[in-house]
Amino acid sequence: MDLRGYTKLSKEILLSRIEDVRRKKKLVILAHNYQRSEIQRTADFRGDSLDLARKATEVDAEIIVFCGVVFMAETAKILNPQKKVLIPDSNAGCALADTITSEELKEAKRKYDNPVVVSYINTYASVKAESDICCTSANAVKVIDSIPKNKKILFTPDRNLGRYVSKASNRELILWDGFCYVHDYLTEGDVEEAKREHPSAKLCCHPECREEVVAHADLVTSTNGMVRYAKEVDELIIGTEIGLGERINIDFGKKVYPLNTNAVCATMKLITLDKLCWSIENEKYEIRLDDEIISNAREPLEKMLQIV
Ligand code: SF4
Repeated sequence: MDLRGYTKLSKEILLSRIEDVRRKKKLVILAHNYQRSEIQRTADFRGDSLDLARKATEVDAEIIVFCGVVFMAETAKILNPQKKVLIPDSNAGCALADTITSEELKEAKRKYDNPVVVSYINTYASVKAESDICCTSANAVKVIDSIPKNKKILFTPDRNLGRYVSKASNRELILWDGFCYVHDYLTEGDVEEAKREHPSAKLCCHPECREEVVAHADLVTSTNGMVRYAKEVDELIIGTEIGLGERINIDFGKKVYPLNTNAVCATMKLITLDKLCWSIENEKYEIRLDDEIISNAREPLEKMLQIV
C-alpha cells in the first residue's frame, strides 16, 4: 500500500498496526519535544535532538525511527552509523539549518582566516563535518568557555543564540546571520500580552528568541531545561514552539501557556500517525550519509560530548 492508502485508515487501526510492527521488529520510536501530541504519545522516548540521538545509542534496537526534522535524524545516524535510521517524512527540513551550507561555511572560514567554528546542533551533517565543535542551546556557553581566549570564533547558524552566548561568556563572536522563524517572530508585545493574561506565571524563553524577548524571561533555557522548570513552578509561559506544551502535559499533566499560539514549526508537524505507520512498515525514508561525512561530522559532536 502506498502512503495515500494509509491516510484512509482510522487512528485506532494506525495505532494497532504500529504496535504490531513494534512487536515484530527491533525498533525504537523517538519524538522531538515539538512533535504533534499523538506522535509524542506513541513514541518510546521524547526529548530534544541530542538527548534522543544519545538515547538511540543506549537501546537495543536495529531501527531508529526519528520523528523530528532531517538534521536530527542525521545526528542519530552519525552517532549510530551501524543502525538503520528512518524519518517518516523526508521533507521535514529546518528553516534554521537551511541558512548555511557547507560551501558557504568553507567560504566564511577563508574570509575570517580559519576561525574556530562552533556549530549549533541544528545544522546538516555536511556543515557539522566542516565545523570544529558542536553545541546545543543547553551547553553552548560551556563549549565557548572551553576554547582558548586567544582564538577567533565563528558561531553558526543562529544569530540569537550566538548573541546570547556571547553575552553570557563575555566573548566576542563572529555570528552567522541565521535564525529560526518560530522563535525569532516572538515579540515583546507577545510578552506583555501573555503576562497580562497570566500575571502569576513564570516566563521561560529559548535562547533562539530575540534579545528583547529574552530580557523579560525568568529563565532562559533549552527545551529540556523548560521541562525541568515546569516541574517546579505552578504556572509557566513558554517562549518556544507550542509542541513543548504537549510534552509537559504528557509528563506532568500540567498545563502551560505558549507565549504565542502561532509559534508552530510547520516542518515538525509534517510527521503524522499515518506517515509513521507507513514509515515503519515499509522502512522508509532511510537516512543515508557518506562514510566520510559521518566520520567528519562525528568528531565535532564527540568533542562537544567530552566537554559536557
Ligand atoms: S523550530 Fe526552528 S530550529 Fe526547530 S526545527 Fe523548526 S525551524 Fe528548525
